[in-house]
Amino acid sequence: MNYEERTMKSNKIYEGHILSLRVDTVELPDQKYSKREIVEHVGAVGVVAITEDGQVVLVRQYRKAVEKSLLEIPAGLVNASEEPGLAAKRELQEETGYTCGRLDFMTEFYPSPGFSTEKIHLFLARDLVQGEVNRDDDEFLELESMPFEEALRKVYLGEFSDAKTMLALLLAKDFMEEVE
Ligand SMILES: [Mg+2]
Repeated sequence: MNYEERTMKSNKIYEGHILSLRVDTVELPDQKYSKREIVEHVGAVGVVAITEDGQVVLVRQYRKAVEKSLLEIPAGLVNASEEPGLAAKRELQEETGYTCGRLDFMTEFYPSPGFSTEKIHLFLARDLVQGEVNRDDDEFLELESMPFEEALRKVYLGEFSDAKTMLALLLAKDFMEEVE
């Protein structure tokens, strides 16, 4: 099936700092109408950062939306008119202090296309150099590094809850196995 939903009306409900919410009235293929609640999001980046000795640098952070402390890859929002690769380098540096000599794009995906425009760009960072951490004022994170293989095992054991982290680690395995 290949059809589009024509927007008949669009109502902005809320405009926030990182997202806005609109409700669209759409026309369906059978000419009936329905409503779509849509979260507009600026987009984000996530980075699998691998140290010289094969550790992956993860961050533990309290996520209010799910009321849990989650272990995730370093990640953050893409600034207006910022190129995703630059956002990835910036977020990695701000959250972990690391700069990277090599950054490979892995993939981009929609984490919740049922209701959100959010797109996440995933990168693999290597040739890391430790520098200074520079977090946002409202950002409290703890760094947790572990061998890459251990992180991968945790994906298969269901010990991560964050989808971008799981996908990124699985993809990173393939990227690192590629002949350089
Ligand atoms: Mg972040």
